[in-house]
Amino acid sequence: MHEYSVTKSLVDLCIREADRNGFKKIYRINLAIGKFTGFSADSINFYFDYLKEGTSCQDAEISFKEVPIAIRCRSCNRESTIEEPMLICPLCNAVDIELLTGREFLVESIEGE
Ligand SMILES: [Zn+2]
Repeated sequence: MHEYSVTKSLVDLCIREADRNGFKKIYRINLAIGKFTGFSADSINFYFDYLKEGTSCQDAEISFKEVPIAIRCRSCNRESTIEEPMLICPLCNAVDIELLTGREFLVESIEGE
């Protein structure tokens, strides 16, 4: 499961950020996940509960923000938001697509004290 490794990096990053900001504990991680990544919030929460034990993230919760998949078609030059991670223009069916958003896996902010 690739969620395990991204969740592991997430916990490591939060511990580093906690140290850097002098937080004793973190209570919220605001995470933006692009829909194109295919990462499941449930799986991330599952691994997070396991990996955060005994760290400064122990009491933290992840707040998920889903970033939609936005594309620009190089054929008709129009932008669309698509539901499925399939790079096909819904307006003209072309496959010459540029992905604008949807690949994010970003910690937007960390709340702690
Ligand atoms: Zn198009």
